[in-house]
Amino acid sequence: METELFIGGKWVPASSGSRFDVLDPATGDTIASVADGTETDAIAAVDAAAAAGPAWAKTPPRVRAEVLRKAFELMTERAADLAKLISLENGKALVDAKGEVTYAAEFFRWFAEEAVRGEGSIATAPSGANKLLVVRQPVGVCVLVTPWNFPAAMATRKIGPALAAGCTVILKPASDTPLTALAMAAILAEAGVPEGVVNVLPSRSSGKVVSAMLHDPRVRKLSFTGSTEVGRILLAQAAENVVNTSMELGGNAPFLVFADADLDAAVDGAMIAKMRNGGEACTAANRFFVETTVADDFSRRLAQRMSALVVGPGTDEKTQVGPLVNEDTVAKVDSLVRSALDAGAEAITGGSRPGGPGFYYPPTVLTGVGPDSAILREEIFGPVAPIVTFTSEDEAIALANDTEYGLVAYVYTGDLSRGLRVSEAIEAGMVGVNRGLVSDPAAPFGGVKQSGIGREGGHEGLLEYLESKYIAVSW
Ligand code: NAP
Repeated sequence: METELFIGGKWVPASSGSRFDVLDPATGDTIASVADGTETDAIAAVDAAAAAGPAWAKTPPRVRAEVLRKAFELMTERAADLAKLISLENGKALVDAKGEVTYAAEFFRWFAEEAVRGEGSIATAPSGANKLLVVRQPVGVCVLVTPWNFPAAMATRKIGPALAAGCTVILKPASDTPLTALAMAAILAEAGVPEGVVNVLPSRSSGKVVSAMLHDPRVRKLSFTGSTEVGRILLAQAAENVVNTSMELGGNAPFLVFADADLDAAVDGAMIAKMRNGGEACTAANRFFVETTVADDFSRRLAQRMSALVVGPGTDEKTQVGPLVNEDTVAKVDSLVRSALDAGAEAITGGSRPGGPGFYYPPTVLTGVGPDSAILREEIFGPVAPIVTFTSEDEAIALANDTEYGLVAYVYTGDLSRGLRVSEAIEAGMVGVNRGLVSDPAAPFGGVKQSGIGREGGHEGLLEYLESKYIAVSW
């Protein structure tokens, strides 16, 4: 297992010599000690990325594509080992970790295919005097900052398009889950990524190292996935050098169930939208709005399914719900549930934190949740489904939009025109209609409002790493 920094194609200790521990969320025990990158290391990583930039930008797109394709193949071959590593450091159930590896590898395959679609445009100026030629060029050195909840997929969703576009990168993974990022670095090196093109910098001093890089004028792009709170700080820092930014931030997804929906399908979809990754997903259904006439039925069926889930260590094959990633996360979930219960909600399954070691929280369904509850305003990031009722389409849309977030929404209805009408009215970057899963490497993923700026995946994901250069030509 790699535990050093990866800079300029070499595994190196932190310049300070210091290291930090990575914990197993199932037990709280230390599983590895990782080099703790400093500001000096961060600048060394920028040096490496800047030095490698011109040659990588000039590397033929077909060659860049083949390196990414090879990385996809290596990830696929080693899927079982990667899944175990993700499960070990993140806590998620192996079944979710395997799903993540497939999803993550697919970004390399997708962007291998996109790398060779080097489009531009040419037009005649309205005056007729000249031509308007537009070419696309790589943005340059990119800083990529990722969260712990999808340690492989959030990295490949950025590295894939950056490399396809001809950019070089420094990845700063979450300090709860650096091991997966380091394993990805090893795979990319083996796939043929030249020295300095990808650098990985685990650090416990995230604020300092990212700030040092954002203040280096050679850095031209920041792609961040994480909380809205940290996103705001980084947007302000990026403004100082006018660094290009892509922001994938928090969510507060509404899950709407209309009375005309197929309730079996709605419960199936709810289980995926809520419980994929144990609820630790930005796309997790955070608020369930159910039409009054079917609310009792839906709630009862959802509670039955939730209470039947097997909770245990993520690395155990039988586990369906692993522990949450750390103590802070489980404490936050517990406090949101307690305050909803204090305000009159009822837990029809789950609802209290078990004793014992590890960061566990049981699958929970809450009914009778008051409209002002904090649990409807904040990201829960755990296996808790609060249910609220509505009586009309307009009310459902108003409830769904009553949040500063706008990442994803889910709509269940038997009436397709209603599904599309509601999709248009909901303020979100993505909507699942009669589906509890929207993520797809071939589709543009991202949010509106305070859920972010820009898109990852799809063709749009590549454009985030390219600048358009306009050349006025007369001939
Ligand atoms: P986070 O606390 O915002 O951390 C995200 C990353 O930023 C980590 O690498 C973290 O490093 C780093 N960081 C923290 N403070 C920083 C600072 N002051 N300056 C620079 N970097 C800093 O988020 P998280 O708890 O890891 O992840 C959960 C959040 O991510 C949720 O809000 C979730 O919705 C969001 N998310 C969004 C998407 C999306 O696509 N929209 C996808 C997945 C997750 P450390 O680990 O060292 O603190």
